[in-house]
Amino acid sequence: MVSKNKTQIKNEIQSLLHETFGYKTFRGEQEEIISSVIEGLDTFVLMPTGAGKSLCFQIPALYLEGTAIVVSPLISLMSNQVNALKQNGVKAEFINSSLDYNEYREIEEAALAGELDLLYITPEGFQGGRVRNLIDDIDLSFFAIDEAHCVSNWGHDFRDDYLLLGQIKKSYPDLPIIALTATADFRVREDIVKSLKLSSPKVFISSFERKNITYKIEAKNSVQKQIDQVLALHKNECGIIYCQTRKKVDELSKSLKKKGHTVIAYHAGLTPEARNKAQSRFERKDNIIVVATIAFGMGIDKPNVRFVCHNGLPKNIESYYQETGRAGRDGEPSFAYMFYGMDDFIVSKGFIDRSEMNENYKKISLEKLHSMLELCEMNICRNKYVLNYFGEEAGDQCGHCDICNQEVKSFDVTVYAQKALSAIYHLNSRFGANHIIDVLLGSKNQKLEKFGHHRLSVYGLGKDLSKQDWNVIIRGLLLNDYINYSNPEYRTLGLTAKAREILKGESTFSITKKLGQTKKKKSVSIQVSDEDYDTELFSVLKEKRYAMAKDKGVPPFVIFSDKTLKDLSVKKPKSHDEFLDVYGIGKSKCEKYADTFLSLIGEHSA
Ligand code: ADP
Ligand code: ZN
Repeated sequence: MVSKNKTQIKNEIQSLLHETFGYKTFRGEQEEIISSVIEGLDTFVLMPTGAGKSLCFQIPALYLEGTAIVVSPLISLMSNQVNALKQNGVKAEFINSSLDYNEYREIEEAALAGELDLLYITPEGFQGGRVRNLIDDIDLSFFAIDEAHCVSNWGHDFRDDYLLLGQIKKSYPDLPIIALTATADFRVREDIVKSLKLSSPKVFISSFERKNITYKIEAKNSVQKQIDQVLALHKNECGIIYCQTRKKVDELSKSLKKKGHTVIAYHAGLTPEARNKAQSRFERKDNIIVVATIAFGMGIDKPNVRFVCHNGLPKNIESYYQETGRAGRDGEPSFAYMFYGMDDFIVSKGFIDRSEMNENYKKISLEKLHSMLELCEMNICRNKYVLNYFGEEAGDQCGHCDICNQEVKSFDVTVYAQKALSAIYHLNSRFGANHIIDVLLGSKNQKLEKFGHHRLSVYGLGKDLSKQDWNVIIRGLLLNDYINYSNPEYRTLGLTAKAREILKGESTFSITKKLGQTKKKKSVSIQVSDEDYDTELFSVLKEKRYAMAKDKGVPPFVIFSDKTLKDLSVKKPKSHDEFLDVYGIGKSKCEKYADTFLSLIGEHSA
C-alpha cells in the first residue's frame, strides 16, 4: 500500500464518517483513536457508555485492507451491531452459536474471499477449531476487543474465555489490537493491558461524565404521584423503573398497567424463559416501561431508553452510575430520576446487617450506602459528587443536574454547623460522631458523665434536631472538608483549617435536606425541555420504523435512531439530497429508505 500522509487519512476517515454513517463531526477523541489504529498502534480506549466506542474500530475496519476481527461477549449485542452496520452498507458478519450450518458456511466463504470488512466473533473462537482456523486463513487488518474489562477478575463481568485472548499477540504480533471498555477501575485497566499483552499502547481516557443525562434526585413524598409525573413527561418513550423489592415491582407494575401504560415486570423470581421473553420484548418494542429489580439490565443494549427512575435508594454509587447509565446509550438527551427516603436506607442497611458477608465487607457496604445518601442530601453538583467518588476531577457545576439547574431547594444550616464544629473543638478531636451527637442532644449516656461532658457549654445545644439530622450535618462537614478523621482507625473527628471559615461566619453551609422536617416537602417540579420538532410526524415515522423493523426481524433502532427520526421531523426533507443531510443517514440508508420516508413526510406535510 502506498503510504498516505496524515491529511489524506484525515480526509478519508472524515468522508467515511459522513457517507457511511451519516454523521458530520467526530465526538471526543474518536478521530485520534481511529488514526492510532490506522497507524498500526495498540490502542486502549476507556469511554463511558454511549460516547461512541464502536466507530473507533468500525471506521479503521473500513479504511484498512483486510478483515477486522471484533471480539464481543454477547450474542445479542453482536447481532444488533452487525445488523446496524449492514443497514449502513458495511460488509460485516458475525459467527456464533446461533448460526445454522449453511449460514456459517456462507460467512466462512465470504471471509475467505476477502469480502468482509468486519467479522464479529465470541471469545470462545480462540479455543481452537473451526473459527480459529478461519481467522488464521484470512487477511486481517487488526483485532478489536470490545467490553475488554471481561478479561479482568476485578471487573464485575469476568469471563473465563476472555483469557484466551492473550493468544492474539503471540499469534499475530504484527497486527494492532484496540481494546475498549467503559469500566474505569484502575486495576481493571492494568489487567486489560497485561492480559492482552498490549505493547506500549496509546491510551485514550475520556471523562466518565454522561453529558446527555440530566440527573434529578428528590425526597419521596407521594412516590406514586412523583412517578406519574415522570411518566407524564415521557409519554411514548422507553424507560426503566427500578424498585428495591419484588413486592414493590409487582405492586407498581400492576398499578401502572391499570393506568394504561405498557409495562413489563421483571425480577429474579421469574423463570429464565419469562426473563428472556421480557428482555427481548423490551429490546424490540417502542414506548415500553420496565418495572424491575436490579436483576434487570445486564446485557441490555437498547439505545433509546429515555429515562431511568429509581424508586428508592440504590445500594451504592457504583450501582447508581451503572443503572442510570442504561439511559441514553444513543447519546441523546435522557433523564435519571431518583426518589429516596429514609425507609429505603433502613431497608438496605437491614440487608447488609443480616447478610452473610464478613464484618469488614459489611462495614464497607455500609459506608457505600452512606455515600449514596450523601449524594442525595448534600448541596453539591450530582456529577461532581459521582465523578469525585470514582477519583475523577470535576468542575463545581456540570450544568445538567437538578443542583446546577437550581431546581433543588437548599437550606442554610450554618448555625447548626457551627454548633457541631464547636462540639468537636470542645471534645479535642478525640471522639467519634455518635459521641459528638450525644453531647449535642444532651444525652444522659453514662459515657458522657464519665468524661464530664455533661458539663460542656455545648451540652444539649442541639436538642432541636434529631440524631439523624445531626448525622446529615456531620457527614456534610466531612464531605466538604470542614472536619476530618483525626484518627481514621477509631473514626474520631477533628477540625480542619477550613473549619474556621464557618466558625467565624465567613462561609455559609447548606444542604438539600430540610432538617426537623415534619410536614411533607412539596415535590420539586421536574421539567423536560421541549424540543422543536413535529411530534405528530415523529409518531408517524416511528410507527413506520416499527413496522419495517418487524418485517425485517430487527430491533427498530437498527433502522433509524430516535435522533434520526427527530431530525427528519425537524428538517422534513423533500429530496434525496436533503434526506442525506439528516443526522445518521448515509448513502446506504438513503438508497434503502428515502423513497418510503420522503413520501410519508410529503403526505404528512401536505
Ligand atoms: P458505546 O459503545 O461507547 O456505548 P456506541 O458506539 O454504541 O457507544 O455509540 C452510541 C451512539 O452514538 C450510536 O448510536 C452511534 O451511532 C452514535 N455516534 C457515535 N459516534 C458519533 C458521532 N461522531 N456523531 C454522531 N453520533 C455518533
Ligand atoms: Zn451538576
